[in-house]
Amino acid sequence: MKDRRSFLKTAALGAAVFSLDSIASAADAQAKKGGVTGKPIVVSTWDFGRAANSAAWEILKKGGRALDAVEAGVRVPEADPNNHTVGYSGYPDRDGRVTLDACIMDEFGNAGSVCALEHVTHAISVARKVMEKTPHVMLAGDGALQFALANGFEKENLLTPEAEKAWQEWLKKSEYKPVINIENKSYDSKGATAFNPLMLPGNQYNHDTIGMVAMDANGNLSGACTTSGMAFKLHGRVGDSPIIGAGLYVDNEIGAATSTGVGEEVIKIVGSHLVVELMRQGYPPEAACKEAVTRIVKRSPSKAKEIQVGFLALNKKGQVGAYCLQPGFSYAVLSNEQNNVLINGKSHFK
Ligand code: ASP
Repeated sequence: MKDRRSFLKTAALGAAVFSLDSIASAADAQAKKGGVTGKPIVVSTWDFGRAANSAAWEILKKGGRALDAVEAGVRVPEADPNNHTVGYSGYPDRDGRVTLDACIMDEFGNAGSVCALEHVTHAISVARKVMEKTPHVMLAGDGALQFALANGFEKENLLTPEAEKAWQEWLKKSEYKPVINIENKSYDSKGATAFNPLMLPGNQYNHDTIGMVAMDANGNLSGACTTSGMAFKLHGRVGDSPIIGAGLYVDNEIGAATSTGVGEEVIKIVGSHLVVELMRQGYPPEAACKEAVTRIVKRSPSKAKEIQVGFLALNKKGQVGAYCLQPGFSYAVLSNEQNNVLINGKSHFK
């Protein structure tokens, strides 16, 4: 009896390993056929990931460290006055205050993070300083600002006239409801654009994040994630983006993952850590992201229909994958083989 039981157990384990192996070799075959693979490589969320990737590439192409690349990369949307979901000119909270969330992780597993940080554009660089100059991982609110000012960051006004105007508009109804964030274009595999009929009128996406993960020429991984969070959020609300394991996770032996979308749902499944752990078990990046999205759907099927969440992952082989709840999540890939293309993430609700 004991023998039969242990035989069945071994056989079942064998079957599980076999099926994961076949998914992984299918991904290898796809990668060889011209899919994304290799190093150095940088990938990031949404359309604005393209400009961010270009900045990161300046460092990666010279053999620089992935950590420096991801920091430099995400600083681009942080400083962009036309980007209202990250850094300077981000939409404020419902009290009119721009509060930023960001985190960073390096190849040694070191991590730094700031949340609800006001008055400093480059939240990612403050997060890096937390990682490198303190024994802590996360600083919040006034403490994060105090630390930033003590470390040479300037105090700025992040609320631009456009963002203030959008907030004034929002105040008229003060509806506290996240809008599904999708870009107004969709992309074929070469980055050509087409109108996305699912875009809400008037470009009304009210939250987005830049999540970026990269592998440098030495094969080391790092990641960065930064956002102004949900527009018009409750003052003090913190999303997934600055939370290590939720908005970002890097394990230099396995891979790295990041997320965008309604942070509350990502936090509840510790999404980016889950994606990396699934890759550790043998899942290729897209299958790992899909499984994380499936967990969100299983937990709250009706809510999942109304929100967007997207995961983006890169494994140690340089393979990239993404998966999202709703169509319309795009991500940008730049490597020696992929010239900063925008790709539509596959989605659960097609
Ligand atoms: N994940 C971000 C947050 O919840 C927003 C987003 O990426 O859309 O704050």
